[in-house]
Amino acid sequence: MNITLNDTSLLKTDLYINGQWLNRDIKLAVTNPANASLVAEVSTASKEDTLDAIAAASEALKSWSQTTAKQRSALLKKWFQLIMGNQDDLASILTAEQGKVIAEAKGEIAYGASYIEWFAEEAKRINGDVIPQPSNDRRIITIKQPVGVVACITPWNFPNAMLTRKIAPALAAGCTVVCKPASETPLSALALAELAERAGIPAGVINLVVGKASIIGPVLTASSEVRKLSFTGSTQVGKLLLEECAATVKKVSMELGGNAPFIIFDDADLDAAVTGLMASKYRNAGQTCVCTNRVFVHQSIYQSFSEKLVAAVEQNLTLGDGTTEGVTTGPLINKGAVSIVVDLVEKSVAKGAKIATGGSVSELGDCFYKPTVLTAVTNDMPIATDEIFGPVAALIPFESDQQVIDMANDTKVGLAAYFYTGDISRIWRVSEQLEYGMIGVNEGIISNEMAPFGGVKESGMGREGSKYGLDDYLELKYICMGGLK
Ligand code: NAP
Repeated sequence: MNITLNDTSLLKTDLYINGQWLNRDIKLAVTNPANASLVAEVSTASKEDTLDAIAAASEALKSWSQTTAKQRSALLKKWFQLIMGNQDDLASILTAEQGKVIAEAKGEIAYGASYIEWFAEEAKRINGDVIPQPSNDRRIITIKQPVGVVACITPWNFPNAMLTRKIAPALAAGCTVVCKPASETPLSALALAELAERAGIPAGVINLVVGKASIIGPVLTASSEVRKLSFTGSTQVGKLLLEECAATVKKVSMELGGNAPFIIFDDADLDAAVTGLMASKYRNAGQTCVCTNRVFVHQSIYQSFSEKLVAAVEQNLTLGDGTTEGVTTGPLINKGAVSIVVDLVEKSVAKGAKIATGGSVSELGDCFYKPTVLTAVTNDMPIATDEIFGPVAALIPFESDQQVIDMANDTKVGLAAYFYTGDISRIWRVSEQLEYGMIGVNEGIISNEMAPFGGVKESGMGREGSKYGLDDYLELKYICMGGLK
């Protein structure tokens, strides 16, 4: 282990099923993308372990679904407090396995915890309705009930927050969960389970299985006891899971890939747009689903905006190990991720894109790609059509509002979009015409626990966070009371 922790017992390496920590012979090596060192070896789950986790969640559901909202709220709040009390250690674990800089890791812990705090409150607002009746001998009532056992499958780019965004609303609604975190980053998830146990969340309510997706995934999707799947990850895997869930007609939430446009109109405050773009494009080394993918710049300001952006990238971004003071941009998750970015840049340059800064792998190591700006990009180049998931800004010129809206919408996905303008009419018009689930207007960072997070088209279905985030974990039941005199 090469992480310094105040509380070393937060570094868990066993499966967590029915309140038991289970050691298994087949291990998964977790490595630090900054230096390829071994962080830990984690037990992996077999098919039987996964079935045991589902059985434990089913059993725990009987009592957990009968707790009062106030009881669930109190336990979630306790969990939130423990997470924030251990923020530094959780951030250190996160940076060691994922690579993001420590300040961003601390930010993720707070962001992830904010969903637990939010849903601890929302648990107390799961209200039903009394609806006007068609005749006076009856009354119409609706109640909301937990969907049941929920399977949660999460990616590596936000190993803490993608999980809390699912577990918190599930538990608030009265559901129990079986979670499979990404194989690159299981340690953040296991540390969350340790703190949930310390908070007093009962055995079986949260179960965590780490290991091969090909073993665990099909068991979760085939189980008729699992009534819902909540997935965050690639559109490709999301589609596969949708097919698998059809056999048991599960409820599904899908938070999938994006291809975010970032539009700078000619009346925009260019300095504000540079600041917004820097945050939206380069945080987490460009590895977020809502990261800007295509930067559309009005041709009248294309030159001046490109120069400002290149200057900001060269002056403000420092590549390196996320634990080093002053570093702003960490490594990509693995060598495979780097080769995807290299390939996208090379293919686009071959088609005419120009490298204004960066454009290659850094001498720091195989997982480090230099913060990059590409100019003279067109909307049909691979860097524009594919999800980049790396620190590359691709600048595409445009002439008119309609042209840029058409180009922005010319993709199968629709998660987040951003634009900068000073014109209030344009703000409404463009916001309404962009086919995306989330829009940032003169703002590059838009996600928080109070707002609904989610996409349209092939970016998925369902919303996480906000007052709408509980709906995905609840069934609406209609009760008709008849025979009234
Ligand atoms: P991924 O390859 O789809 O993996 C995500 C999770 O699914 C991992 O836990 C993975 O397990 C598991 N998985 C893979 N194949 C599976 C299968 N056949 N059955 C069951 N589970 C399977 O995605 P990723 O590369 O980790 O994450 C990046 C993607 O996530 C990007 O496209 C990004 O846009 C998207 N994302 C979306 C959101 C959102 O809210 N919309 C947020 C964050 C990320 P293993 O790790 O064991 O392979």
